Amino acid sequence: MSSKLVILSGPSGAGKSTIAKHLLKVENFNLAFSISACSRRARDDEENGKDYYFLSIDTFKTKIEENEFLEWEEVYPNNYYGTLKVEVERLRSAGKNVVFDVDVTGGINIKRFFKENAISIFVNPPSLEALEERLRSRNTEAPEIITRRLRKAKLELTYAGKFDYIITNNNLEETLAEAETLVENFLKY
Ligand code: 5GP
Repeated sequence: MSSKLVILSGPSGAGKSTIAKHLLKVENFNLAFSISACSRRARDDEENGKDYYFLSIDTFKTKIEENEFLEWEEVYPNNYYGTLKVEVERLRSAGKNVVFDVDVTGGINIKRFFKENAISIFVNPPSLEALEERLRSRNTEAPEIITRRLRKAKLELTYAGKFDYIITNNNLEETLAEAETLVENFLKY
């Protein structure tokens, strides 16, 4: 049976990576995380080859030129993120279903590529105020970067309708259960 793809998109801080981590724990789902490449610096708790493949901007650009990406975006100025074709092939050839945590444009592009083999889920924050609060309390970004992420979030919210499903992350426990049900139903057929 060919493997299936689960796409999680939405603004930074909406809860995508928490949902991804939860889905990865459900053994029946046979999911593996698509490790993206990115050109930003690793945070203290991040590991190369686990959270991301951390690349220099030059290496990232060379890979763009060599057509190594399934999709890539300059998500924030000078911060490139992208899904490497070899990464997806590696996981699919191991018989895994694949989960992606990508920005909104990346999510739309991956869905367009895999069509009915992919489910695309938009993770909506409860409000922009709640998103701001989450980004600040996460304490992983400098204030000006948070401001940049919030500005981008406003635009990203306008893309929600392009996804198969929208989950509003009001309550984490309910959100995780909702995501699990969507993915369970999708993987069944
Ligand atoms: P962060 O810097 O917080 O890890 O990620 C910033 C944004 O980049 C998030 O919205 C994340 O989903 C997105 N992102 C991560 N990997 C990729 C990727 O491979 N492609 C695209 N288009 N966006 C990505």
